[in-house]
Order: sequence, then C-alpha cells, then structure tokens
Amino acid sequence: VAQSGPMPGPAELEEVESSRVERLLAVGLVVFLLVGGFWVLARLGEIPQRPDWTAIEQAEGKPAVEEAWRQAMADYERAQTAAAEAWAALTKARAEYEYRREEYRVALERGLDDPALAAAYAEARTLVEQAAVRHELAEAVRVSLEAELKEPQQAYEAVMRRVQESYERADAHYQLAVFALRFAYALPLFGLSVWGWLALRRRRSRHLILATATMAFAGIQTLGLLGQYGWYLLRDVAPLALSVTGSAVCVAGLVAVRRWALNPRRLAVARLRRGQCPLCGFPLREGTTHCVGCGRPVMEACPGCATPNVTGSPFCGHCGRALA
Ligand SMILES: [Zn+2]
Ligand SMILES: [Zn+2]
Repeated sequence: VAQSGPMPGPAELEEVESSRVERLLAVGLVVFLLVGGFWVLARLGEIPQRPDWTAIEQAEGKPAVEEAWRQAMADYERAQTAAAEAWAALTKARAEYEYRREEYRVALERGLDDPALAAAYAEARTLVEQAAVRHELAEAVRVSLEAELKEPQQAYEAVMRRVQESYERADAHYQLAVFALRFAYALPLFGLSVWGWLALRRRRSRHLILATATMAFAGIQTLGLLGQYGWYLLRDVAPLALSVTGSAVCVAGLVAVRRWALNPRRLAVARLRRGQCPLCGFPLREGTTHCVGCGRPVMEACPGCATPNVTGSPFCGHCGRALA
C-alpha cells in the first residue's frame, strides 16, 4: 500500500523509517532469495549440452588409431623379447664353443687326437654360427619394428591433440550458452528490481524495504555472474583485474559513504529532527535565538512571512514555504 504524501522533500529516503527488526528480516529475505537464485542459476547451467570427451574421441577416430598403436607396441615388445632370447642363446652357445675348443686343444697338446672331441668342437662351432645368424635376424626385426612404431605413435598423438582442441572449442560454446542463459535471466530481473525500487520510492511506499531487499538480491546475483564470467574471460590476468576493479569499487564506495555522511543538508535535517542544533548537534532550547552549544544563530526569518524558523528547516513552520 503506497502512502502518497503531498509534501515533497529532499530526504525522501528517511521518510520511510525501518526498525532494526525490519532490517534484519530484509537481510533474511535477501539471503533466502539468493538461495533460490543460485538454484535457478545452477539449473540454467544444465540446459546446454556439456561437451562429451568420449564422444569427441570417437568422432576424431581415436579408438582405431589407438588400437593400431597398441598393436605396433605389442609387435615391437615381442620382437624385443625374441632379440633378448636370441642374444642369451648366442652367449650360451659361445660359452659351449669355447669349452669344446679348449677341451679339443688340451687333448691335441697331449698328443691325443680324439675324433669324438673333434666332432663336439665342430658341432659347437656350427651351433655358434647358427645362433649368431638367429640373433642377427631377431635384432634386425626388432630395429625394423622400432622404426615402424613412430608412425602410429605420431598418429595417436595428433588425434589426441585434435580431441583436446575440439573439446576446448565445444567447452567454449557451452560456456557461452550458459553465460547467455544466465544473463538473460539475471539482467532483466535486476533491471526490473531497480525499476520497482524507483517506483516505490517515488510513491514513498512503506514497502520500499521489500523493493530494496529484492534489488539487493538481484544486484548481488548479477554481480556474482559478472565476477564469475569476468574471471573466466580474464583468467590469465584475473588476479590483477580483480585487484583493480575491487579497489576501484571500494574507493568509490568510501567516497560515496563519506559524501552521504557529511552531506550538511542531510546532517542538519537529521539533527533538527532530534531537536538538536543543526550546526553542532547540541540540544536546542525553546525560545533561544542562539545555540547554547556553539553560540551561532539558530533562528532564521522566513523570506515569505518573516516567521523565525530553526536554521536548516526544510519548510517554514508558519506558511509552509520551502526554505532552500
Ligand atoms: Zn550549535
Ligand atoms: Zn513563512
């Protein structure tokens, strides 16, 4: 219910006085509205399609390329094992060959030419030659397969790079869509709340505090979004950007609060309302022309009807003329 008084005045805000309890309830209202607001924002974030890493991998052909690489790795590992085994066999054959050679040489030195020893020596030599050939072959296969590893590995790495890029593009689209949805909800709501607040203030409504709480909620929500997306867009320089904007907002706030608190007109009216000297705040006494606290004249004649009014009174108490 709007209360429309005929009296225009500079201190319209102060016309609507709220008790401490009312303010506390208004803060509670802001908090509960914010709980709902964040629920809405979270739901809006679920509407656009989130990028799916696995689907992107499929689309870029990762499984086939990965399988080819895995296959090449397995082939290479088998060849590596075979080469190691061939090397072990060759080493063993060499030891056997050296033993048979010594055995045969010692027998010869003793003047004993045993054909059985000669045959064992010859056989050991043949076995070493065969083992050497097998090892050479196995090693050649290993080297060839190692060279063939490169291509599937590079193909796999290239696909994974493409997957990463695709995912980042899809994520940027997703973030943009969520950003658009959230602002499409929060910005008009904030505009509406400001419009409502201004309308109620113009009508000097007793319910202005409700509009103030709603505006505070919509404002905090919009600021939160701006902060969140500002952080996302400026993530490389975010701490610096935060420092600069935060400092600027705090300085502006300090200046505004100071200006409001030290506004002489507002201060004078507030003191007058409490029956104090508008200049120094000392209690005024009935029937005096000067302040007993600061000694300055506290009565001024109305330019319309010459009735004395306390200095700083917005209106003449006799004829109602506005005393600027
Ligand atoms: Zn005074
Ligand atoms: Zn007057």
